[in-house]
Amino acid sequence: MRYISTRGDLQGCPGNTFTEILLGGLAPDGGLYLPETYPQITHAELDQWRGLSYAGLAFAVLSKFIDDIPPADLQWLVDKTYTAEVYCNGRAGDDVRDITPLRWLEPGLGLLQLSNGPTLAFKDMAMQLLGNLFEYVLAKKGEEINILGATSGDTGSAAEYAMRGKHSVRVFMLSPFGRMSAFQRAQMYSLQDANIYNIAVRGMFDDAQDIVKAVSNDHDFKARHRIGAVNSINWARVAAQIVYYFKGYFAATGGVSGSNDTPVDFAVPSGNFGNICAGHIARMMGLPIRRLVMATNENDVLDEFFRTGIYRPRATAETHTTSSPSMDISKASNFERFVYDLVGRDPAVIRELWAKVDAGGSFDLSKTAYIAKLPDFGFVSGMSSHVDRLATIRQTFEKYGVMVDTHTADGLKVALEKRTPDSPMVVLETALPVKFEETIVEAMGRLPERPAAMQGIERLPQRVEVMDVSVDAVKRFIESRLGG
Ligand SMILES: *Cc1c(COP(=O)(O)O)cnc(C)c1O
Repeated sequence: MRYISTRGDLQGCPGNTFTEILLGGLAPDGGLYLPETYPQITHAELDQWRGLSYAGLAFAVLSKFIDDIPPADLQWLVDKTYTAEVYCNGRAGDDVRDITPLRWLEPGLGLLQLSNGPTLAFKDMAMQLLGNLFEYVLAKKGEEINILGATSGDTGSAAEYAMRGKHSVRVFMLSPFGRMSAFQRAQMYSLQDANIYNIAVRGMFDDAQDIVKAVSNDHDFKARHRIGAVNSINWARVAAQIVYYFKGYFAATGGVSGSNDTPVDFAVPSGNFGNICAGHIARMMGLPIRRLVMATNENDVLDEFFRTGIYRPRATAETHTTSSPSMDISKASNFERFVYDLVGRDPAVIRELWAKVDAGGSFDLSKTAYIAKLPDFGFVSGMSSHVDRLATIRQTFEKYGVMVDTHTADGLKVALEKRTPDSPMVVLETALPVKFEETIVEAMGRLPERPAAMQGIERLPQRVEVMDVSVDAVKRFIESRLGG
């Protein structure tokens, strides 16, 4: 399997194997990596895969995309990633052996529980594997990496819990001082591992993000200190997320003895388009997904595209701060992968469209032939607001006795609008309610349940360096920790 860039400069150029693109972010031409072709899954394979454990399925799916890690090693990596010990943080009573249990709310409407990992959000599903892949590949190459990132909450903690204690990996994570919830702060800052550095900057998330960009643009510093990233455009993260669409499909169509003829709809709370992009790829591989229901919050850049054909990324000042903060995006970084497929995988078209986006503009496909192709890809979309979110959280609890988080509520709200009687609808649960206690209290007048492992984490000692918004200060800090 070879990887190409959506912007095309790498087309036909050999040598971009999975492990070669694993540690990088963007392709050198500014595009995103995608496999040269999508592997096609036969009916016979679906039949064989149906009875597999999560780790078994991860091996089966990922083997289609990875041909430069020996199979025995890949098996070992997925076996040590997808264990009940790692994914056991969900609510009491969930069958943790399942890793991602499907919970039926009523016949034909299910929640795929992806939030049982250490940070209680679906990002653990891919990030935990990434941690093990990084350690493995770095050891083979005899290299080290220093991951620099900025977080407003979920990504930073998922990255830290995936990389803690790993050989040859250090994490420097910037967060906005005083802006995350007490729970999120405790989750990150209470880590005592020597390879994890939390830096709180006296500013907003965007200031932290700008520092990361400035450091990454200092090519000399970046090369000298082997600075890397684990952001949502990383191909391995997308690839790892494909697995749970298969798992969810099998669970929704009757477990081990079910059939592979029933199409299923998936509803996905979306921000950077990484999660639903994995669903798109599963569908392109031949998994019988009928529709991909994309839900946004008030930041409806993507909903607007699927309704109108116009993609208009917003300026930071136009981005709303909402009660589903992990979906507060102004620009959906993985969206380029989908548009590449939509325009018939023509890199010249992508270069033209993204020349506009990268210059701060927008593009309009509504009067092109591409728009007629959109229905072939199965996407439908909708939007959910703060008021919708509160109502959905309340009603889901009253009707089913299940408490959902604010992001999952956005997905559920749109799923209910788009659902039809002829296909089961599976809503991806992207986090547990305890991560967003303030809004749960607003909706329900009471606190959400807390998994046992998270009791009292706010009282643990915290390790964090507080700094002004300064690129130099961050660089000096990194250098001091690397010993010069
Ligand atoms: C990251 C995140 C999302 C958005 O996922 P994308 O892959 O960026 O579309 C939704 N919900 C939660 C809880 C998240 O952490």
